Amino acid sequence: MKRKTIRRFFRRLASFIKKTVVFLFYASVIFLAFHWFPWNRFATPVDTAEVDKYYALLKEHQRPVDVLTLSLGINDDEDLRAEVEKAGMQSKDELPIALNRLIKAMELEATPISLEYGDQEKPPAFVTNFNQERMVITVSRLVKLRREQMSLLVHELGHIAVWGMDRSAPMICGQETASAGSLLSGCHQERVVDCSGFFQGQGILTLNGLTDETFSTADGGTRTEKKVFGYLKPEQYGYLLARYCADHGIPARNIEFFLEPAGRKYFNIGNEYLKRSAVVSVKPAAPATGVYWCPKCGQHSTVDLSGELAEIRCPKCSFHIKIQNAWERTTRFIYVRLVMPMIKLFHLIKLRMIGIKSPTF
Ligand SMILES: [Zn+2]
Ligand SMILES: [Zn+2]
Repeated sequence: MKRKTIRRFFRRLASFIKKTVVFLFYASVIFLAFHWFPWNRFATPVDTAEVDKYYALLKEHQRPVDVLTLSLGINDDEDLRAEVEKAGMQSKDELPIALNRLIKAMELEATPISLEYGDQEKPPAFVTNFNQERMVITVSRLVKLRREQMSLLVHELGHIAVWGMDRSAPMICGQETASAGSLLSGCHQERVVDCSGFFQGQGILTLNGLTDETFSTADGGTRTEKKVFGYLKPEQYGYLLARYCADHGIPARNIEFFLEPAGRKYFNIGNEYLKRSAVVSVKPAAPATGVYWCPKCGQHSTVDLSGELAEIRCPKCSFHIKIQNAWERTTRFIYVRLVMPMIKLFHLIKLRMIGIKSPTF
């Protein structure tokens, strides 16, 4: 009789533990799904009146660049560069190469443009027009991340492209109010310059200059780091790239692969806004073509973006990358955003149970 009662007790206990574990599992999945799901993508409003006005102005007066830059093929692995420098070696400065590739992509070869480094805290970069003959872009050494430097180059080259629309006006970098009587009169000059980078096919590089990340901290909380260069809001940048893609019939899935997490987030917000707003009706007006430089041999190639892009293959060397499709991206998303945090959570619970209070991951 006594043994039967004990057995029943353990059976009930086992059943209770099993139910609790199952409940905790589903509760964690629901919590993490709510926590990480990008709800804002479907609800964030985007102020498009001003950028639509400038985009229309550029369409009317600027020569369009109908080839979207996917990648300049420049190594932006900061850890690798830091390792090389720590070992006492000078890592190769690839920014001048990036500038040359951008000049080609933005079809600005007719203007002599060179690069210098400065120590200024602000602005992070600027362009100087020497006698309307020679342009010098100065990038601050304080900007360390390659992706940020490249987005700054796009902005400075945007100044040269915008100045090319009306050379009677002076090209003064940093001046927000455009000169009276010029083509841009009444416009915010710096915002027109930002729009121009997108109109000229460099939207991926501008979006990749953004930082918007949430980190888990050792005390169990979260920390968000945001950084935006330029004069527009990140969601306006996302919208401008979505507009460029809609104008050229480029499916969003073909370029998401080339965007960093923050850039992808704002591109998705822009895309959703474009889909649900009746403000602009855009029909593909130009061919869907992308350009990339091989990171291994530097070969420049174009690729058709109208269908589903499955891979990128260098025509000169053995380099190739497979473009993840939506299913592969979803699987990776589930792994990185749900499975990994749950493993960390269980690890944390385990450490707490054995008495370790402040684990760091
Ligand atoms: Zn500027
Ligand atoms: Zn190659």
